[in-house]
Amino acid sequence: MPNKTGGTRILLKQLRETLAEPLASQQRLDKIVDLIAKNMAADVCSFYVLRGDGALELFATCGLEHSAVHNTTLRLGEGIVGLIASEAKTINIADASTHPSYSYKPETGEDRFHAFLGVPVLRAGQMLGVLVVQNTQIRAYNEDEAEGMQITATILAEMLSTSEFDALVKPGSDIDLRRSRTIRAVGFSDGIVIGQVVLHDPRVVITNFVADDIDEEMARLDKALRSMRVSIDDMFSHTDMQISSQHREILESYRMFAHDRGWVRRIREAIQGGLTAEVAVERVQNDTRARMMRQSDVYIRDRLHDLDDLANRLLRTLTGNGDSAKAFDLPDNAVIVARTMGPAELLEYDRSKLAGIVLEEAAATSHVAIVARSLGLVAIGGASPAVSICEDGDEIILDGKLGIVHLRPNADVKSVYIDKQKLSSERLAQYAKLRNKAAITKDGVEIDLLQNSGLLSDMRALDETGAKGVGLFRTELQFMIASKLPSLNEQIELYSKAIEIADKRQITFRLLDIGGDKVVPYMRSMVEENPAMGWRSLRLALDRPGLLRTQIRALLKAANGSELKLLVPMVTETEEFCLTKEVVNKEVERKERLGEKIPSKIELGAMIEVPSILFELDILLPKVDFISIGSNDLVQFLTATDRANPQVANKYDAIALPRLRALKHIVDEAKKYNIPLTMCGELASRPLEALALMAIGMTSLSMGSSSVGPIKEMVLSLELDPLKKIMRKALKNKLSQTPVRQILKNYVQSRNISI
Ligand code: PEP
Ligand code: MG
Repeated sequence: MPNKTGGTRILLKQLRETLAEPLASQQRLDKIVDLIAKNMAADVCSFYVLRGDGALELFATCGLEHSAVHNTTLRLGEGIVGLIASEAKTINIADASTHPSYSYKPETGEDRFHAFLGVPVLRAGQMLGVLVVQNTQIRAYNEDEAEGMQITATILAEMLSTSEFDALVKPGSDIDLRRSRTIRAVGFSDGIVIGQVVLHDPRVVITNFVADDIDEEMARLDKALRSMRVSIDDMFSHTDMQISSQHREILESYRMFAHDRGWVRRIREAIQGGLTAEVAVERVQNDTRARMMRQSDVYIRDRLHDLDDLANRLLRTLTGNGDSAKAFDLPDNAVIVARTMGPAELLEYDRSKLAGIVLEEAAATSHVAIVARSLGLVAIGGASPAVSICEDGDEIILDGKLGIVHLRPNADVKSVYIDKQKLSSERLAQYAKLRNKAAITKDGVEIDLLQNSGLLSDMRALDETGAKGVGLFRTELQFMIASKLPSLNEQIELYSKAIEIADKRQITFRLLDIGGDKVVPYMRSMVEENPAMGWRSLRLALDRPGLLRTQIRALLKAANGSELKLLVPMVTETEEFCLTKEVVNKEVERKERLGEKIPSKIELGAMIEVPSILFELDILLPKVDFISIGSNDLVQFLTATDRANPQVANKYDAIALPRLRALKHIVDEAKKYNIPLTMCGELASRPLEALALMAIGMTSLSMGSSSVGPIKEMVLSLELDPLKKIMRKALKNKLSQTPVRQILKNYVQSRNISI
């Protein structure tokens, strides 16, 4: 009988030779099952592969009837083999006929066999098939034999992940791994992409399965573990000032797993069994994953992602497969697929090739989503389990409007999307025709449609969309992309170019709004429990006056004598706004002293995004030139829901009565003090939400560039006054408590408004 140090190793050696032989796929597979049967002294060895239609097809056998190969199939959950596949667990039983799930397929002739050992064939959390040995006598397989089978299954899984066996599957079907998949998630931006998957954390392709020299493999593992632990410690010591508590929690669990003796011991045991270090990591990960998946505890399941990330890191270190896809040339129409990602990481990619992004964990108002939109990407979030079912290079279709991901689409789906894409380019052409038309409602109310920017690349959309200008230029993006603090001259250059592209159209530069999840890696500070409410934005800027001064100096210079509009973020108290104004004034005075050109006019506005300021608008408004509502933060703080956490971010409707009343209060106060008001949060980008804003009297909306066309079309088809009247009643709760959203939908439908 084989054991860990004997039989399995011999088997692995033989497998290695077989893998190297120039054989046709079926021959190779037949030889593999023969070898396993011989090595295990089994009468039968069979290999079942999960097909896209959910059937387990017998791919090879030694001992069962050969005519059953590619003809016999089992459903998931059918018989013991089906049970192994549906539950991803090993079943080892001395007499299979006593098992409650026992059933047999007569054409295979398997009713003669009693002893049964079956193991799942898993890769990256995916069930790919089942490997079985059987014997005529009643006997139990020992633990080492089970271990040997699991090791062999890991190798078969890796082989399946290459396309080696694709052609063997019964005509008309696909192996499950290549199956078309659809994920219904949440669209963050409109549009359609037909592109190619680029995994943000690339999956390692293992080509070397069997160890030549166990000691050498152990040494490789030790070295990789050491370097991985150092890199995790490094991540900790680079505790960027805005490291989120969620990010820190992930790092903590990385560290915990990296030092976990049980985990490392199991990898060592697998190497001892004859595997290369990388296959050993994969093998232990499969096991751990299967165990953890059976846990109902959400916390443990979440930690599983962390362990997956860590195992993947270790695999990359072992195989020397680059750090991430960013290092490589991206394909055209690249669609980045990631579990989660910070906005700065997205900005590291070659933007000319990016077309879309799919995230398992992100909410529409998270900054990565905002950056994705400003890059003009089609973005989809909440798309679990995209990462585990995608492979680099897979074809992928994103339908941003519906929030749907089609992975490895079949020809029919693809042709539908080719048509849709054509239609959407026709729509774009239609929007382009509206470019020079003012956005005026049917009853004569002009709405200023502006665009949000932050990069020169998205500034160029101004000409295409016909936006009146830039209502929010997020200056922090330059800081997030850079590897060091942008110098005065670098800032001057960016702002000057932005002003040049704006070409006399208005542009509102928001002063530095870093912090929260807008991590600036080269600036360090303390770890915060609650970064969104921590040392961020204006608080940080006022505490680091050098930073603020430099930025204001750069903006004054870039204005080159023309008008300058500056927006102060996260004003919590009027005093903070006044302090900022003092810094601006001092810089202007300095310039005058030096005899330099100063802007012909400077307007300084405040962002309304912290609830507290709503209750002192009477104090703030007389001091400002304009205000702009940041609904992303304002709604986050009003509802106490983290905008970056998809589990809660959409829990409360942003235009439901209490939020809309808060917004209406701002509108009324702005009117009272005759202060221009803009909405620059994401609410302005979404047609129904934008309609709500107009219905409460807002006439200036700044949004992602791709929303300008659709919102303009909506404005042009709208009669606003009747809706305003309805909304006045709704705000007083006089409309039999119909939700605001429903009221708007009813209005849109009854009036045939383009949404
Ligand atoms: C907002 O909070 O709505 C806003 C516009 O700013 P940011 O999304 O950059 O925080
Ligand atoms: Mg904000």
